[in-house]
Amino acid sequence: MKKLVLATSNPGKLKEITALLKEFSIEVQTLKQIGFSKEIQETANTFKGNALLKAQTVYDYTNQPILADDSGLVVEALNGAPGIYSARYAGEPSNAKSNIEKLLLNMQQQENRQAYFITQLCFIDQQAKTHFFEGKINGEILKHPTGNNGFGYDPIFKPNGYDLSFAQMSIQEKQRISHRSKALKAFKTFLDNLL
Ligand code: IMP
Repeated sequence: MKKLVLATSNPGKLKEITALLKEFSIEVQTLKQIGFSKEIQETANTFKGNALLKAQTVYDYTNQPILADDSGLVVEALNGAPGIYSARYAGEPSNAKSNIEKLLLNMQQQENRQAYFITQLCFIDQQAKTHFFEGKINGEILKHPTGNNGFGYDPIFKPNGYDLSFAQMSIQEKQRISHRSKALKAFKTFLDNLL
C-alpha cells in the first residue's frame, strides 16, 4: 500500500493520523486532494455503521485504500445518548457549548455518571476488504465544565483513574489515553503485520 485516503476534513485528525503513519512511507491523502467534495450523511444507527458508510462512499469514488472514523460519547444513565448524535446533540449546526449544557441538564437528577468515549475506524484495503478497529475510554460526567483545552465534551469528561478532565490535560496527555489513539494504535498494529 503506497497511498491511503482519509475520509475526514478535520485538520486535527489528519495531523494525528499522518504522524502515526509516518514510519510506513504511506502517502496520506485528504478528501480534497482526491477531489471528493460531497457531504456524506451519517445515516447509520451505530458508530461502526457510520464509519463503514463514510469509508464505502469514498472507496466507491476512488478505489484506493481508505480509512474513515466515527466517534462519540456514550452515557450510561441516558441509555447511550448522545451516542451517534454526539456532534449534533443540541441541534444543528453543531455547537459544543450547547451540547454540554443539554447533557448536564439531562444529567441533573442522575447519580450514575458513568460514560465512555468511543472511536470506530473502518479501513477498506486494496482488495476492497473491510476491517474495523475500536478504541474506548471509560470515565465519568462531571457536574460542571472544567478546563479549557480540547474540544467537544472534553470539559465534562474525567477519565477513570485521573483527577483531571480531558479539557485540563495537555494534548499529548489526552492523546496517550484517548479512544481515538487507542483505535489508531490497533490500526497501526494491523499495518505492522500487513506491511
Ligand atoms: P467525530 O465522529 O470524531 O467527528 O466525533 C463526533 C462528536 O463526538 C464530536 O463532535 C464531539 O462532540 C464528540 N467527540 C468525539 N471525540 C471527542 C473527544 O475526544 N473529546 C470530546 N468530544 C468528542
